[in-house]
Amino acid sequence: MTTIFSKIAAGDIPADIVFQDDRVTAFKDINPIAPIHILIIPNKEIPTVDDVTEADEQTLGHMFVVARKIARDLGIAESGYRLLVNCRDDAGQEVYHLHMHLLGGRSLGPMLAHRD
Ligand code: 5GP
Repeated sequence: MTTIFSKIAAGDIPADIVFQDDRVTAFKDINPIAPIHILIIPNKEIPTVDDVTEADEQTLGHMFVVARKIARDLGIAESGYRLLVNCRDDAGQEVYHLHMHLLGGRSLGPMLAHRD
């Protein structure tokens, strides 16, 4: 199933793209929850972390390298940032094309909003 993120990677619908190469695309989240909120996706359609295979290892590792580059480019490498990947319902995944959130630009507080 083609998601909106696949269409962004293909250039079929607009997004504020901050980085793209043959393996990944990074763009600004449409509804940011921090001053810097970037989504990094594999260009290949992988719905969730549960669908990842060993064949994806290089691309997934590349997502971290790209995250580091973007964080440096945007000036938050020193202050710090959070990388976050949601998987399915309990994590609140909305778009079923695997994506890494890069969040920063302010103190992000504790990792989870709610405790049991
Ligand atoms: P999830 O909850 O699936 O981990 O995160 C999905 C994210 O995608 C949300 O933060 C949401 O704001 C963002 N998003 C959803 N649709 C679009 C879109 O069409 N364009 C952009 N740039 N971001 C989107």
